[in-house]
Amino acid sequence: GLADRLQNTMQKIRGKGKVTEADVKEMMREVRLALLEADVNFKVVKNFVKKVSERSVGQEVMKSLTPGQQVIKVVKEELTELMGGEQSQIAVAKRSPTVIMMVGLQGAGKTTTTGKLANLLRKRYNRKPLLVAADIYRPAAIKQLETLGKQLNMPVFSLGDQVSPVEIAKQAIEQAKADHHDYVLIDTAGRLHVDEDLMGELKDIKELTNPDEIFLVVDAMTGQDAVNVAQSFNDQLGVTGVILTKLDGDTRGGAALSIRAVTEKPIKFAGMGEKLDALEPFHPERMASRILGMGDVLTLIEKAQTNVDSEKAKELEQKMRTMSFTFDDFLEQLGQVRSMGPLDEIIKMLPGANKIKGLNNVQVDEKQISHIEAIIQSMTSEEKQHPEIISSGRKKRIAKGSGTSIQEVNRLLKQFEEMKKMMKQMSGMQQKGKKKGMPF
Ligand code: GDP
Ligand code: MG
Repeated sequence: GLADRLQNTMQKIRGKGKVTEADVKEMMREVRLALLEADVNFKVVKNFVKKVSERSVGQEVMKSLTPGQQVIKVVKEELTELMGGEQSQIAVAKRSPTVIMMVGLQGAGKTTTTGKLANLLRKRYNRKPLLVAADIYRPAAIKQLETLGKQLNMPVFSLGDQVSPVEIAKQAIEQAKADHHDYVLIDTAGRLHVDEDLMGELKDIKELTNPDEIFLVVDAMTGQDAVNVAQSFNDQLGVTGVILTKLDGDTRGGAALSIRAVTEKPIKFAGMGEKLDALEPFHPERMASRILGMGDVLTLIEKAQTNVDSEKAKELEQKMRTMSFTFDDFLEQLGQVRSMGPLDEIIKMLPGANKIKGLNNVQVDEKQISHIEAIIQSMTSEEKQHPEIISSGRKKRIAKGSGTSIQEVNRLLKQFEEMKKMMKQMSGMQQKGKKKGMPF
């Protein structure tokens, strides 16, 4: 597979103390073949190889102390870039309900994903979705959605299979308004292939419901076909995002790599299994890691990145040691960590996290994090630098300014003190063992 081939190639170059243009050229030949073999669209491959080559023979790599690793880092960055940034946001209509149309070929996973998405909307965003059974052709399609609705304990709107999908969609939205649903998820019919009938019907539904999102559901296992399907749906219907399903299977990764580049539409979510909680935001960076073969290579890349950001890491380490780490630093760190994605997902990514008991089920409350940010932002700069001056009068003001409570302010101050203590211990450990690890 793609991962194997790329890893072999990486293996050859990783330890090199000196990388010549010829090395890069040879490596790019291999990368090119590996990508083409994995069904990545040839234009995409061509651009990709060009970009990586340019960067690899550039200053950035040649001047580095570890050029082999730097090339790998470039490959990973460009793979990530190819798949776009993280894009798991979902539209919110100015006037409720937000309408989402789920489209795609038969068997792609539309119905299942409709259930998963409803689950995610409720769980993560506290929304109240209405599921709509608008696939009147596939036998038992309505029943399938109703079963999912029962499992989720969510209502499913259906008018049987004798009413047109357009009419079903229309009435569903009326119903949603009456019952104060804020999201309407329309599960539409698919065909085995893209055809005019299908597109005609989908266009009619689109016209009538004016959806805020049209999510194209594609099966990642179908490789280049998935890309072609994505292209024609997008051309004819104008999708707003792609959901790749069956990424839990043994896919070659080619689809994920080309879809974004070919359609210029973001991959928003990834289906990772048949269960209703198996839908995740799509993380291009993680997909790139997966394609390059997680463990070993990822560690290397992390090291490479530490090299690049060594200035910043050093600065932080210094701060820890001298205990001059302030709430400003804390806020900055928090922002950086948050920009990586939902916290519970990040925690799962930490090396060795799967070995720590209980950590897998950890639920991080995003709301709590927002409160922490608000509290820090309500401090004066003097307070951020010297939290010990925060008297009870100041606490009251901060709580009021941040819309939180004195208890929350107290808790944060206490946690911050504890964190500083812990950092001191950790930086002591790092000094002794020179172990690598997270920046804090
Ligand atoms: P639809 O025809 O597009 O509505 O597809 P369905 O939702 O009926 O799904 C077709 C099959 O794919 C079902 O057996 C699903 O359980 C399965 N499926 C959907 N998403 C995933 C996924 O992310 N991973 C795995 N392993 N199976 C999935
Ligand atoms: Mg279906």
